[in-house]
Amino acid sequence: MHMVEADGPAVEEKLRAGDYACPACEGELRPWGFARSRTVGRGADRVRIRPRRSRCKACLLTHVLLPVLCLLRRCDLAEMIGKGLALKVAGWGYRRIAASLGIPTSTAGDRGRRFGELAGHLRAYFTALTYFLDPSFGAIEARANLLTDALEAIVAAAGAAARAFGPAPLWHFASGASSGRLLSNTNPSLPPAFLPRR
Ligand SMILES: [Zn+2]
Repeated sequence: MHMVEADGPAVEEKLRAGDYACPACEGELRPWGFARSRTVGRGADRVRIRPRRSRCKACLLTHVLLPVLCLLRRCDLAEMIGKGLALKVAGWGYRRIAASLGIPTSTAGDRGRRFGELAGHLRAYFTALTYFLDPSFGAIEARANLLTDALEAIVAAAGAAARAFGPAPLWHFASGASSGRLLSNTNPSLPPAFLPRR
């Protein structure tokens, strides 16, 4: 699995041009059919996606190219999931978050708790990514609350990535930079494969 831009035609063009590197060996990824299509998002925001499958010219492993609209194994759009997390950081209760986003309270709660469990890890990872992208970045002050720190680190890293590569929606960046695993308990390596090589 390799995270790619949300813009399908741009992904197609880059894939055909050999611009994606294999996450396993840095070899060139080539088109290799499609993964099963899936629906993400709810109501008017629903989108149907059919992720590209690719195969590495060097090691022959295949990788699904998942657009950063999504997080791995989550049915909602990354931007909406992220908005819920930001509301949680702002102190909203799960019932209010759920009503505001049109999702079940249990879903809002599951995501908020997951974010809480992973907050220390996310803070460390996105802080490291911030300094990787921008070594001159000033000190990131710790606050009283780990959730706030985690969100601030994500925002700081997104800012550093925007200065290096151009702006992207915050939670698309967070999805790409975490290899789609923002709410999964894994440690992506630095730099994330999603970011362009400099
Ligand atoms: Zn490879």
